[in-house]
Amino acid sequence: MIDRPALDRIIESGGYIGVNTGQAHEANSTLINHDLAEKAFDAAACIGCGACVATCKNASAMLFTSAKVNHLSMLPQGEPEAAQRVKNMIMQMDAEGFGSCTFTGACEVVCPQSISVFNITEMNGRWLWG
Ligand code: SF4
Repeated sequence: MIDRPALDRIIESGGYIGVNTGQAHEANSTLINHDLAEKAFDAAACIGCGACVATCKNASAMLFTSAKVNHLSMLPQGEPEAAQRVKNMIMQMDAEGFGSCTFTGACEVVCPQSISVFNITEMNGRWLWG
């Protein structure tokens, strides 16, 4: 069983982008490579169910957190806050008491949305190199 509010607090710590309110931008004013958009959408498919945490022998939330970090940070709209986002979300994940990832891959196997463990490696790169 998963403590879902803990996952919500990870989102609250950085799973958003800051935008000015007002009229919506013209959709085509920010060009995004198709492959990149697909990759971001794949990560955005995470529904926050917590199955990855439940199956992990370390009770790690790395698959969930990395999906939430990456789907925003790999797009131009999320790039300005990317460095701070990854720090805030990982620190919140640690504060919630989730375990460390030892990359067993069990999370990817049970994920109903087929979120890839490569999200974890990508997030670790963001954490290390900003
Ligand atoms: S199992 Fe998949 S969909 Fe569910 S929280 Fe984890 S990464 Fe997200």
